[in-house]
Amino acid sequence: MTATNPKPSQTVIRPDKDRFLADQNPFEEMMSRFDDAAKHLNLDPGLYKILRHPEKQIIVSVPVQRDNGEVEVYTGYRVLYNTSRGPAKGGIRFDLQVTLDEVKALAAWMTWKCAVVNIPFGGAKGGVICDPSTMSNAELEKLTRRYTSAIIETLGPDSDVPAPDVNTNERVMAWVMDTYSMHKRHTVTAVVTGKPVEMGGSLGRREATGRGCMIVTREALRKLGMPVKGTRVAVQGFGNVGSIAAELMEAEGMTIVAVSDKSGGIYNPKGLGIKDVLQYVRKNRFLTGYPGGKNITNEELLTLDCDVLVPAALENVITRDNAARIRARIICEGANGPTTAAADRILDEKGVFVIPDILANAGGVTVSYFEWVQDRGGYFWDEETVNQRLEKIMVHSFEEVTSMAERHGLDNRIGAYMLAIERVAAVHRLRGMYA
Ligand code: NAD
Repeated sequence: MTATNPKPSQTVIRPDKDRFLADQNPFEEMMSRFDDAAKHLNLDPGLYKILRHPEKQIIVSVPVQRDNGEVEVYTGYRVLYNTSRGPAKGGIRFDLQVTLDEVKALAAWMTWKCAVVNIPFGGAKGGVICDPSTMSNAELEKLTRRYTSAIIETLGPDSDVPAPDVNTNERVMAWVMDTYSMHKRHTVTAVVTGKPVEMGGSLGRREATGRGCMIVTREALRKLGMPVKGTRVAVQGFGNVGSIAAELMEAEGMTIVAVSDKSGGIYNPKGLGIKDVLQYVRKNRFLTGYPGGKNITNEELLTLDCDVLVPAALENVITRDNAARIRARIICEGANGPTTAAADRILDEKGVFVIPDILANAGGVTVSYFEWVQDRGGYFWDEETVNQRLEKIMVHSFEEVTSMAERHGLDNRIGAYMLAIERVAAVHRLRGMYA
């Protein structure tokens, strides 16, 4: 291997990285809710200890020869949090913000999420610390293949099934599937979900998370006696989840008054035309400069006068600093972990109806489950069947979470954790402990 003309590294640590690690450790955020739910469930101390620890944490070094000949070594993680209910399931993200604690939190959330919608998976997550925006396609392919081979012992349709997450997509899943299949000497489509439809992906998977958000928001409006038509919605994040949620909510008759991406937000109290906004973003990549609304910041979007707020971008955006100023009646958490534990308490006191992430964005993993089932059966469903089955699961899970919360006089998030932890704990009790 040659290492000629090394250029200074292009990776830049984002300024908020240290603050994020110190103040809002995602694993501790997750654990504070877990503890709350465990206390209300009166979880026995042995099970409490088991469920508080990830089953397996893998750290790998991933060497890649960059296009300029320089060798870079990236750090990658794969965490299997709990596999008592079935194979581990969870995405792979490529991002500079990736930390082991973040991957652990995301793996735990996947465990609870799969249990909330009652699909037979455990929870996992993977990540590589890198900045894909500075890497060529060839470099990304090398990184993906080397990372896949580094964790190949845990992967498999019966053991650990990745999916796309932040900065990974269908293309990356195709490389994971191919690398795994080359090692196994035969094609194994069910080793990843979120693949291109041509190679065993499911119809409806791309839209599934946004569709799930739309379904649970509609159920929440119904529950609170609010009309669907004309309900004013603000959406933070205009990527896969946010843009599709906005499009489908608009199709149901809701008015999308604001959307944002990392370039900023746009606001129009009369309603934005989402098809038009999507077309603009397809052409210009970002929302900035869109002529059909007033420019606002991401922070302003969160505290807008609206009925439904959909945070669908990042973790820790609704915090103790802005929670008191939130004016939405309903928050539908499209992103994972957008609300801190401190903000939860403020929102609860204000009577905001929060549809927690482990329910609100579970449409994606639900259709990933359908994809895995279709791959293993070798029999593919039409899109209408996928959407009908998704709708049934989301409506039923919404009902189960809100009933649990009401029964115990708690907020929906703790209700969702209780439902999930109880399901995982029940399997542990039945299986007993291997010694
Ligand atoms: P994506 O990369 O397609 O879109 C992310 C969007 O957020 C982009 O529009 C980006 O510009 C915007 N964004 C980034 N930084 C921002 C900032 N600082 N302020 C405002 N906007 C910002 O990602 P996605 O797949 O839509 O995922 C979004 C969230 O939903 C993540 O938390 C992810 O873990 C979660 N999620 C995704 C899925 C899925 O199926 N895609 C499933 C469950 C949960």
